[in-house]
Amino acid sequence: MKIHEYQGKDVLRGYGVAVPRGQVAFSPEQAAEAAQNLGGSIWVVKAQIHAGGRGKAGGVKLARSIEEVRQHAAALLGTTLVTHQTGPKGQVVRRLFIEEGVDIGRELYLGVVLDRDRSRLCFMASAEGGMDIEEVAAHTPEKILKEWVDPLTGLSDYQARNLAFGLGLSGKTVNEAVRFMKSLYRAFVETDASLAEINPLVITKGGGVIALDAKINFDDNALFRHPELRELRDLDEEDPAEIEASKFDLNYVQLDGDIGCMVNGAGLAMATMDIIKHYGGEPANFLDVGGGATTEKVTAGFKIILSSPAVRGIFVNIFGGIMKCDTIANGVVAATRELGLTVPVVVRLEGTNVELGKKILAESGLKLTPADDMADGARKIVEAVGKGG
Ligand code: GDP
Ligand code: MN
Repeated sequence: MKIHEYQGKDVLRGYGVAVPRGQVAFSPEQAAEAAQNLGGSIWVVKAQIHAGGRGKAGGVKLARSIEEVRQHAAALLGTTLVTHQTGPKGQVVRRLFIEEGVDIGRELYLGVVLDRDRSRLCFMASAEGGMDIEEVAAHTPEKILKEWVDPLTGLSDYQARNLAFGLGLSGKTVNEAVRFMKSLYRAFVETDASLAEINPLVITKGGGVIALDAKINFDDNALFRHPELRELRDLDEEDPAEIEASKFDLNYVQLDGDIGCMVNGAGLAMATMDIIKHYGGEPANFLDVGGGATTEKVTAGFKIILSSPAVRGIFVNIFGGIMKCDTIANGVVAATRELGLTVPVVVRLEGTNVELGKKILAESGLKLTPADDMADGARKIVEAVGKGG
């Protein structure tokens, strides 16, 4: 689960990580009020969307008066920000974060991710922080320092000092950085985070260490342990189809193509997307309905695909094992009975109860194209969609 920057900073503050003071705002008036409350003479108005790259896209504005805060807020709210992380459609700005200005000395990068090869959390730090960390990672990966944390002992002082010295810090700033990293580590572990990125991590002109940006993702599988974090979910930032799918515990990912895919098994679902692409088509989604899915769950999955305006054809590719072909057939029939069927559907069924499944589909009166195997099915649906366009 992703959250907004201001929420991430709240969480971090709770663990003693240094963050600037700030306030969320949903209107220009609230923004002006927030600046008033914060005091000072310089503020930053920051668009809150679940994507990075806001700075470069014009989503972070400096203001030198309350009036300017109000103007920036009015200009940003309701606009669509297109950043390198939002995709071409962009993301609408509905919330702002008004923050006190920080006296920036240096902009560094600090990240925590799970290194799956080593089964350990990895702290990554770079002196080249700010808005171009992707460039650094791609072209000069040696400029990214790493420390892997032993889960038994946690992040050690010496590891944090290694990173601090590697970043060129000295004096009391080293101690502040060590404290910062250890607090960040504790926040990460105790909230079951899956990613934390502080970019930029700022060294102030006075030698202080503070998080100017904060991106935190949480492990969905651990959210049941954190009801207070669950509350931070912002459905406006999520894909409607994925929200609907998550209600039914379906493994569904929205994609940009026009061929809807209904498959059981993550591996078969991946292979199905590959073979559609192989024949020149573009999948509209990844969907693994899972092994033990009920007819209700299959129906919900097929309805999500049917109601997507981008879908111009559907490929049902099922290899029944634990999943029975008749369950799939019943789900397809129930969904189409409710929503109608206006696009071609190619069905490839194999495995448990395949004859019964085929019989249900045949007797439904729906116009479906049967396929002999995966390749045959992919070829047929790509051809059918091609003709329609
Ligand atoms: P991102 O582009 O979405 O990652 O947004 P960030 O929060 O990282 O902001 C982008 C850039 O805006 C930072 O690298 C800073 O240079 C600048 N910025 C953000 N907050 C402040 C602030 O409080 N004061 C100043 N002077 N600049 C800021
Ligand atoms: Mn940033």
